[in-house]
Amino acid sequence: AFDVLIVGGGPAGAAAAIYAARKGIRTGVLADRFGGQVLDTLAIENYVSLKATDGPKFAVALEEHVKDYDVDIMNTQRASKVVGGSLIEVHTESGAVLKSKSVIIATGARWREINVPGEKEYKNHGVAYCPHCDGPLFKGKRVSVIGGGNSGVEAAIDLAGLVKEVTLIEFGNELRADAVLQRKLTSLPNVKVIKSAQTTEIHGDGKIVNGLSYKDRNTGAIHRIDLEGVFVQIGLIPNSEFLKGSIDLSAHGEIEIDARGHTSMPGVFAAGDVTTVPFKQIVIAVGEGAKASLAAFDYLIRQPVE
Ligand code: FAD
Repeated sequence: AFDVLIVGGGPAGAAAAIYAARKGIRTGVLADRFGGQVLDTLAIENYVSLKATDGPKFAVALEEHVKDYDVDIMNTQRASKVVGGSLIEVHTESGAVLKSKSVIIATGARWREINVPGEKEYKNHGVAYCPHCDGPLFKGKRVSVIGGGNSGVEAAIDLAGLVKEVTLIEFGNELRADAVLQRKLTSLPNVKVIKSAQTTEIHGDGKIVNGLSYKDRNTGAIHRIDLEGVFVQIGLIPNSEFLKGSIDLSAHGEIEIDARGHTSMPGVFAAGDVTTVPFKQIVIAVGEGAKASLAAFDYLIRQPVE
């Protein structure tokens, strides 16, 4: 059995693995795709101490750092179930059962996509999901934000300070964001809000985005907007489906954790984008992974001597 078994090989899982292995305890990492979301990221310019890098390079560096230690990496394996007990069981989709004295869940999240023509083609070439990450790339340009919930309205307010013009597109008849955010939004001179609008296509010149079409849901008319960037803000889905019924999740499906990364199941910790931790960023996931790992070690040294 492992002392610590980490599920997830993104920044949080990698940090947890390094911190556990440095304690000299038996450490394993089970990951569907080692590297995580970073693999889909083009430019990273906000990882403190690394002025600029790209996602694939960062992912390789994560893996190399973990491999410097005695860590058992099980890549391309998906966890399907976690069962509590004095030895915690992690079941995989391939039918294996791994046992560990403690477990750290760091399975991350994924952005909900709008699934219209152009979205996949221009991802990272004008189509973006993270205003904290990619906002500065659109300095002085025209962008649209799709989604009028809290994250969409926050993104529009954030971007309005950087870009020339923001058009927020909401599918419903009203924005769903908190009233205080809506008031802030409407006070900004370079933000336009279009409601009852269904995005139908993201256009580009073959290389980068140059426009967006939406259908006015009241009249059925299709309109086109010329712009350079589209931020899709229709939700971040935590990869926690396999924990339903065994570990407490928030209404949004995020794993509920306390200040030390404990979940509701004894001996099971969680870190990064899959948890209730606010703000989903690499630097935060790394810190959370380290924290959960230290908390798991703390838990292990308090277990009765066998
Ligand atoms: P993830 O990176 O999501 O890793 C999750 C890991 O768990 C992966 O290895 C995955 O394969 C694995 N996994 C999932 N389910 C299972 C399962 N059932 N069993 C086993 N393994 C599983 N942040 C920044 O700070 N700066 C940026 O510039 C930036 N740009 C971004 C650009 C894009 C396009 C995207 C999508 C995100 C960006 N982010 C950026 C956000 C950042 O990537 C995340 O906050 C960070 O990767 C979260 O780390 P994590 O380890 O919690 O999760």
